Amino acid sequence: MSEQVFKNIIAHCKEYGFVFQSSEIYDGLSAVYDYGQNGVELKRNIREYWWKSMVQMHENIVGLDAAIFMHPKVWKASGHVDGFNDPMIDNKDSKKRYRADVLLEEYQEKYRKKIQKDVEKGRSRFGDDFDEEQFLATNPNVLRNKEKIDYIDNVIKDSLDAGDLNRIRDLILELGIVCPISGTKNWTEVRQFNLMYSTQMSATDDEAEIYLRPETAQGIFVNYLNVQKTGRMKLPFGIAQTGKAFRNEIIARQFIMRMKEFEQMEMQFFVKPGEEMEWYNYWKDQRSKWHHSLGANPGHYRFHDHVKLAHYANAAVDIEYEFPFGFKEVEGIHSRTDFDLGRHAEFSGKKIQYFDPEENKNFTPFVVETSIGLDRMFLVVICESFRTERLENGETRDVLAIHPALAPFKAAILPLTRKDGLPEMARKIMNELKFDFSCYYEEKDSIGKRYRRQDAIGTPYCVTVDHDSLVNNDVTIRHRDTMEQRRVKISELSEILKQEVSMNNLLRTLS
Ligand code: ATP
Repeated sequence: MSEQVFKNIIAHCKEYGFVFQSSEIYDGLSAVYDYGQNGVELKRNIREYWWKSMVQMHENIVGLDAAIFMHPKVWKASGHVDGFNDPMIDNKDSKKRYRADVLLEEYQEKYRKKIQKDVEKGRSRFGDDFDEEQFLATNPNVLRNKEKIDYIDNVIKDSLDAGDLNRIRDLILELGIVCPISGTKNWTEVRQFNLMYSTQMSATDDEAEIYLRPETAQGIFVNYLNVQKTGRMKLPFGIAQTGKAFRNEIIARQFIMRMKEFEQMEMQFFVKPGEEMEWYNYWKDQRSKWHHSLGANPGHYRFHDHVKLAHYANAAVDIEYEFPFGFKEVEGIHSRTDFDLGRHAEFSGKKIQYFDPEENKNFTPFVVETSIGLDRMFLVVICESFRTERLENGETRDVLAIHPALAPFKAAILPLTRKDGLPEMARKIMNELKFDFSCYYEEKDSIGKRYRRQDAIGTPYCVTVDHDSLVNNDVTIRHRDTMEQRRVKISELSEILKQEVSMNNLLRTLS
């Protein structure tokens, strides 16, 4: 996919009411976006699929809706006040600011691509005899490139751990990384910026500074005891939450990929110490299934194990998707030990533990978390489903081949003409179907134009009411992806739609 494809996707999102720039009439607010009439439906459906897959499908996972404002001590305890920083570097010629670690990661990506190319070459040379694992472990070119990737990883980890930002700058110079805009190596020092926004809780007390939460997870940790006790939860159990988070991302680029206000869907799973790796692998597998269930090309996903683990984590992996601008994180799965509950116990002075009746002892549970950005997932769905097709008659059509269960509208009800009682009949069908499915009614413009508009917003079915319908009580149902049309009885419509668009079918693929 190219830069042009991504531009087309952004333009499509605007033209068809999916995503608008915030406060656009005032020239917009950078890195803040609004979801339009179709975007809000798609976003709701993704959120619902996530929520059901977590809460409804697991007896031992419950939900939570914690407030965005939290006591300032929460962020002291979590480490965000002191450590939620990004290392930034400026190019003196272009005056552009970059995240130093991202510049280095993008540089590493070049070597990953080289390895991928060598693998492809190997495969086409050796055919069925090709052993990828062995090739990766022995091919000299691959090993040389791997060594370069590992070297960069190690320097980043060591310098961040030691707080040695000069070493990061030296590495950028050593690798000859240039600014993509100016093309020069004229870099400033690397500096740390805290990403949290703060505001005043009270109009009268200047001291009462609080933060807008930069993640939803802490709302879960501070409610661990409340939920465990009132829900009589037994380990292992999870708490799931979706909600807004805020980060002062200095470099906000790539549309809704990196926003200052965004939405997270997080689940913290509390387990007995020593069982965390088993659950880590379980959630890695579950979350992978969830992503693949939506029908994306499997090659567009990959797991990226963290080398530079945070000091409290004992395993972490990113689920990455290949956006038009490269592989980027969509979701993180982290084994966080007892760090968070332990810190909140320390800072609050409360005993935050679990009493195990079988072992007759108290301990602090370990946590495995899954954390996905709803907006990034929205972008995954759009990137994966957007295509421009050339038709047999030479025309083109833009299609969003979104999984039917996520599509903003499940069916469009279209009377062929605006007279002869066709609109009345179409309305009658609509008024019946709307109790079970979100439907779209439209009678303006030629049927061809209306089909194209529905294709562009991802509606899986168009139901056309024509003159024969009046006589035979049947309609034409047109499939978005194949454009095939078939005649069905009106009485069968609801059942047909249910089969095809139901989220239940998706949920069943997860078990
Ligand atoms: P990145 O390295 O891309 O900044 P992160 O590692 O800081 O991401 P986490 O803190 O693990 O991200 O947050 C979990 C998820 O929240 C991410 O996988 C991503 O999908 C989403 N997310 C994080 N920051 C943003 C943002 N600024 N805009 C949109 N989504 C975000």
